[in-house]
Amino acid sequence: MPMGKNGEPIIVAQPEETQYRCPKCGSATVQKTGPYGPYIDCLQREAKTCDFRAGVPAGVPCPEEPETGQLVEKRTRRGIFYGCWNYPNCSYTTNTLEPGKMTKPRGADERAAANMKLLERSARGKARSQRGGPGHPPPGRRAEPSGDAAARTMRAGDDDTASR
Ligand SMILES: [Zn+2]
Ligand SMILES: [Zn+2]
Repeated sequence: MPMGKNGEPIIVAQPEETQYRCPKCGSATVQKTGPYGPYIDCLQREAKTCDFRAGVPAGVPCPEEPETGQLVEKRTRRGIFYGCWNYPNCSYTTNTLEPGKMTKPRGADERAAANMKLLERSARGKARSQRGGPGHPPPGRRAEPSGDAAARTMRAGDDDTASR
């Protein structure tokens, strides 16, 4: 970490402590601003005892776990939705935060099944380094394979056989 003259870390924008508690360790969280906008970090990240980081909560708790869950705005090509910041440990999503129109919290069994599936998918996705769930794009785009010409010829061949 870069240090100032007096030994204190250089901070671009002063992190602000938030009203939210870290859902992983219960510690205080701070809002920071990065190149992609504001985000929330657990205060314990600096001590490396917790790795929690999330988008800034929209201000509505997750209906399925209001104690620890906060809904965060997610942007995808198909529009905006809200997901729980405990993803992938919580699979709750809703397209609106309007009271009465939000996705209803599911029963404990249904939730457990959905969350289990999500965790499995997320583990498989990580293993294959494929894309994650909606609103959770992979960390980096896969580079185009080199050997373009060969690949193109092969693809063209595949198309031919497929169309016949
Ligand atoms: Zn934490
Ligand atoms: Zn949740």
